[in-house]
Amino acid sequence: MRQPVIAIDGPAGAGKSTVAKLVAKALGYRYLDTGALYRAVAWKAIRNGLRPQDTHYIVDMTRHTRVELVQSDGEQRVLVDGEDVTEAIRAPEVGNLASPISAVPEVREVLLEWQREFGRQGATVAEGRDTGTVVFPDAAVKVFLTASLDERARRRHRELLERGIDIPFQQVKVDIEARDQRDSSRHVAPLRPAPDAVLIDTNNKTPDEVVEEVLKICRARFTSEATPST
Ligand code: C5P
Repeated sequence: MRQPVIAIDGPAGAGKSTVAKLVAKALGYRYLDTGALYRAVAWKAIRNGLRPQDTHYIVDMTRHTRVELVQSDGEQRVLVDGEDVTEAIRAPEVGNLASPISAVPEVREVLLEWQREFGRQGATVAEGRDTGTVVFPDAAVKVFLTASLDERARRRHRELLERGIDIPFQQVKVDIEARDQRDSSRHVAPLRPAPDAVLIDTNNKTPDEVVEEVLKICRARFTSEATPST
């Protein structure tokens, strides 16, 4: 039987992770953080001394890498070849390398299969930039979260400070803007909402308010599916 997928897409700092985790918890679904997979590959590339232009080596390395998302005490841990890199992959330099790496079609191909395999194993809330357009085009519910650049930079800045990473706000904003630009203009799986996605503007909304909106969409969807058409 096909397992239901809820795809939550959007740019950096739009609130995808926070919202997706809470929606997954509310519905009892598994949570797939697709960005963590790209970060995991970028982390290993840095560890191996690779640079963004070492495409051939990065592709080969990705094909020989095992990334696992493991649920532990309600938290998701990320393992690369058995090593726990959950915290390490959140470093800004890892995010910055994940972006050019994620523009390599062969890398996306490998990760596409990892993501679909995860989806086959149970009902999933998938969070990323192309989960609704490319990875799960048949997702039961597709949501695209947006927020202004300033708001997204503020959220990311706060998040980094909470992790003890102190980078000037302007730098965070410049990084996010550059990442948006790269993610939107690349040829493979560019960042854009699926035609059938519901757009939610998260400016001036709390995570709980956004979660409630998403759950409302899910309820409407699942109720209409359960109602036989006469
Ligand atoms: O969401 P997060 O910031 O963790 O993602 C890191 C990078 O991985 C993004 O900037 C993007 O370039 C890439 N990514 C992607 N497709 C996804 C998830 C992440 O290209 N589905």
